[in-house]
Amino acid sequence: MARSSLTIHGSASGMPNGGRVCSGYLIEHHDALTLLDCGSGVAASFLRKGFDLRRLDCVVISHTHPDHVSDLPLLIQYLHLAGKSSPIDFYLPREFETIFEQMIRAMYVIPERYAFDLRVHGYEPGVLCEQPFAIEAIGNSHLKSYESDVRRLGLPNRMQSFSLRVTVGGVTIVYSGDVASFGELKPHLDECHLLLLETSHVDIAEVKEYAAGYPGMRIVLTHLTGEDAASRLGREFEGLRNVQIAEDGMRVELG
Ligand SMILES: [Zn+2]
Ligand SMILES: [Zn+2]
Repeated sequence: MARSSLTIHGSASGMPNGGRVCSGYLIEHHDALTLLDCGSGVAASFLRKGFDLRRLDCVVISHTHPDHVSDLPLLIQYLHLAGKSSPIDFYLPREFETIFEQMIRAMYVIPERYAFDLRVHGYEPGVLCEQPFAIEAIGNSHLKSYESDVRRLGLPNRMQSFSLRVTVGGVTIVYSGDVASFGELKPHLDECHLLLLETSHVDIAEVKEYAAGYPGMRIVLTHLTGEDAASRLGREFEGLRNVQIAEDGMRVELG
């Protein structure tokens, strides 16, 4: 078995649909496990696949839209009920840290009662951790479209949204998360072996041109609204052997 792999647990967009779970991407390296995003249905998806969630070491959230974050409280409750004893790190955009701590306690998910140590880290752009996964958060402008509402309503939101660059075992994965455009991600794709690209807010023609120019970069297209969108993308990228359309349960060996 390969030393490292990526498993797609949720490839749906923010428009829930029957066939797919919302964003959740698991990276494994030997015994170390990091989950990128934890949208609706991700916890149940792990269980359906017979995966022991107690092994999870780390969760990183790209931004706080519900399709990326809504299963977190359930995940914590499950870890408690299933008897997790090893610590777990949660990396959340800094703007969400305190609200999250209050929200889970309001749901009677109270980490102080549990046998495992839940370590919550609010993060800003930059390096989050270095071992065994080197993870860097790259700010993007996906949430900037909310600026006028944030100002008008006097909300505390900082519109923090991140793409994540993960290096493990000599392989670099860039997970776009939601972005405002593909153009803002491109400068961060140097030395990228695998691009996990959420397609809801990108210009597909631009991605196609890029994919054709970098045949050595493996690209997985995800965050799909239903099977029609998946089939359409499949037709669009036909012939580009480095591009795949995500399916829930898809496993990509990383070497
Ligand atoms: Zn999304
Ligand atoms: Zn989003």
